[in-house]
Amino acid sequence: MKKIIRGQIFYFINDPTLYTNPDDFMRYYEDGGLVISDGYIVDIGTYEEMQSKYIQASYDDYSGMLIMPGFIDTHIHYPQTPIIGSYGKQLLDWLNEYTYPVEEMFSSPKYAKGASKDFIKELFKNGTTSCAAFSTEHKTSVNALFKVASDFNMRIITGKVLMNRNAPAALEDTVKEAYAESKELIETWHKKGRNLYAITPRFAITCSMSELKVAGLLHKEYPDTYIQTHLAENKDEIKQTMDLFPDCTDYLNVYEKAGIVTDSSIFAHGIYLSDSELDRIKCAGSFISHCPTSNLFLGSGLFNMQRVNNKRVTTTIATDVGAGTSFSMLQTLNEAYKIQQLNRYVMNTFESFYKITLGAARALKLENKIGSFSLGNEADFIVIDYVAQYIQKIRMEYLKSCDKWDVENMLFGLQIMGDSRNIKATYVMGRKIDLTD
Ligand SMILES: [Zn+2]
Repeated sequence: MKKIIRGQIFYFINDPTLYTNPDDFMRYYEDGGLVISDGYIVDIGTYEEMQSKYIQASYDDYSGMLIMPGFIDTHIHYPQTPIIGSYGKQLLDWLNEYTYPVEEMFSSPKYAKGASKDFIKELFKNGTTSCAAFSTEHKTSVNALFKVASDFNMRIITGKVLMNRNAPAALEDTVKEAYAESKELIETWHKKGRNLYAITPRFAITCSMSELKVAGLLHKEYPDTYIQTHLAENKDEIKQTMDLFPDCTDYLNVYEKAGIVTDSSIFAHGIYLSDSELDRIKCAGSFISHCPTSNLFLGSGLFNMQRVNNKRVTTTIATDVGAGTSFSMLQTLNEAYKIQQLNRYVMNTFESFYKITLGAARALKLENKIGSFSLGNEADFIVIDYVAQYIQKIRMEYLKSCDKWDVENMLFGLQIMGDSRNIKATYVMGRKIDLTD
C-alpha cells in the first residue's frame, strides 16, 4: 500500500560546499509528494504529479510544513542522558565526577532498558532518526539499546565501550574480555535488522595499547563494522595521552599503531590536530564528528571548520550528549554556527544541514539507505513546523513581507531558533512515531 506524504520537501543530493548552483546540491518541492511503500521511498515529485500517478494511495497532509530526511547524530553517549547539564569542570574531571558513576548503573538490565527507551524517544522528539552512540562497558547496556532500537525498527550504531585502565574498576574490562564480549555482541547484533556495530574504545587514556589493538583486530575480522572513539578534544587529555604513549609521535599515531585509523573510523572532536594528523585522517578515509555544544560546555575549544574543510577531511556535526547540552540537532547547528563566527568563518546553512543528513550518511557509508530521499532509501523522515514558536511566526511574516522567505532563510531560522517544539512528526521506516507516548 502506497502513501503520499504532502508538504514542502527538501533534501540534498550533493555536498553544498562543492557547488554554487543549488540545483547541483539540493532538491526542493514547494508542494511536494513523497511516496513511500513498505518503509521505503518509491517516488518523489510535485504533489500534483504524485497524486495523479498514484490514485489509490493514501496520504498524510503536512501542507505548509517542511519534510526532510531525519537527522543523523554521529556522536552521542546514551548512558549519559541523566547527567546532561551537570555543572562544572572540564573533560577529565567531568568524566570522573559525573560520567563514570552514571555509567556504572548500566550493569542492571532493567535500568539499561528504561534508559534506552528514554534515550530513543528523546532522539525522535528532536527529529533524530539515526545515531552512532556509545553504550557502556557492560554487555547489558549494548543489548538493551539494540533491543529497544529494534522494537522501533530504527537504524542505530552502537557498541561496548572498551576501557582497561584509568577508570573505576567496575567499568574496566580486560583485554581478553574486550575481545570476547565485543565479538559476541557483533555476532548477535551487527547487520541484524537495521542494527550496526561500532567497536568502541573510549579513548587513549583509558586503554592500554593491547586494548586498543583488540579494537584494530576486531575490525580486521569484521571489516564492515565501525570504530568510534575520541580524539584531541582537550589539551590536558592530549598531554596525558602523550605521557602514556611516549613512543608515539602524536595523538593520532597512538590510534594508527593500534590499527584503528580506518575508512570506518569516527573520531569525535578533533579540535587540536596538526596538519599532518588531518592529512593522515583524510588519507585513511576516517571522519571527524564536531560536537559544538559539548566543546563549549566543557570549555574544550573552538573547532576550526574552515581549516578542516580546506584539508578536505570529512566532518559531521553531532551532539555528544551528555557533555553536549541538547538532543536537538537544530540547537547543535546553532552553536556550530556561532563557534565558526568566532573563527571568522560564516558557515552556510546548507553546509550545516548537509552535515547532519546526507553528509553524515555518506561519512557512515549509508547514503544508499538514509540521509536523503533517493529512491529505494529507507523512509526515515521528519516533518518540521517552521512556526511552532510565536517569535518564529513574526520572523516568517516579516521575511515574507520583504520577499525573502526562501529555502535558505527558512532553514537558517530553524537552525538558530528551532528545537524539539518544531518537530511535528518523526517517521521511522515509513511509520509515524507517537511522540506523545
Ligand atoms: Zn563523547
